Amino acid sequence: MAVNTGSQQCSICKRRKPFFYRPYSGERLCRTCFVKSIEQKVKSTISKYKMLDFDDRIAVAVSGGKDSVSLLHVMAKIEKDYPKASLVAVSIDEGIKGYRDEALKIASENCRRLGVEHHVISFKELYGYTLDEIVQKMQGAGGKKLTSCAYCGVLRRKALNVIARKVDADKLATAHTLDDEMQTILLNMLHGDVLRIAREKPLTDEVHPNLVRRIKPFCEIPERETALFAYVKKIKFQSIPCPYASEAMRSDIRLFLNRMEAKHVGVKFTLFNSAEKIRLAIEGLMAAKNLRECSRCGEPTPQKVCKACELLEQIKNPGSCTPIL
Ligand code: SF4
Ligand code: ZN
Ligand code: ZN
Repeated sequence: MAVNTGSQQCSICKRRKPFFYRPYSGERLCRTCFVKSIEQKVKSTISKYKMLDFDDRIAVAVSGGKDSVSLLHVMAKIEKDYPKASLVAVSIDEGIKGYRDEALKIASENCRRLGVEHHVISFKELYGYTLDEIVQKMQGAGGKKLTSCAYCGVLRRKALNVIARKVDADKLATAHTLDDEMQTILLNMLHGDVLRIAREKPLTDEVHPNLVRRIKPFCEIPERETALFAYVKKIKFQSIPCPYASEAMRSDIRLFLNRMEAKHVGVKFTLFNSAEKIRLAIEGLMAAKNLRECSRCGEPTPQKVCKACELLEQIKNPGSCTPIL
């Protein structure tokens, strides 16, 4: 994974020998500075999107793969900056013979190493069937069938929420990387599902008390760097792919994005910024559709109090306000 860095000194510490070249920033980093840079980037993503409150109980979704195990290690470190917060790991056992059993063992080992509690919930106990059984059952059934990943994805999403609630989590952290996020954005577009872009955010909205808010602290880290992080930190993770992995279109998009990034450095980040603008525009349109009456003047507004009343309040009490820009 290490690359020819062509320089004798790390761009940050100016002392150690670099082992990694980061094309989109032009930095050449030594191992120590690379690890620190990932931790710093995750911290800044967390604060940029206000992902954490000081006393959050954070559940990290750990599948045993490189991204989720790396996230657990990074979050175990960051959590120390929040003395009133606590960390717990949660895993879903979908019931995929010969695959998930090993991944769960690796997830547990990492939790033990970090001294983090680990809770597992299975499809079998929650839904009465393992994923293997569901796939088998559906293969025998007639009519329109979904892919194994479609069943797995929907059932896992719910299972994660159930277990996050069970462990009293305020936030559920998932290890989606910049690459995962950008693939999903393009997939949504290619499926004609543009409005979904507004739902996939770095911190989900508080929409229902039973829906644990999700955070994606790795959303600005390229997948290549999460893998390198695991390698440098000698973190154990599962590398064999799921036997049902079949998302043909996602693989094509992954290849396309990687080819684009190699030719036009930084396009993944440009796409990330474009997605944010699209998300804001969609939210604006939705808000326009959901106007209500201002609780003070009765004029239509997407907020509880309209902007004019908010401004008037500030004008009345100039000392106590921050100006609206
Ligand atoms: Fe589930 Fe598909 Fe992922 Fe396998 S590849 S764990 S079936 S979503
Ligand atoms: Zn260095
Ligand atoms: Zn239901």
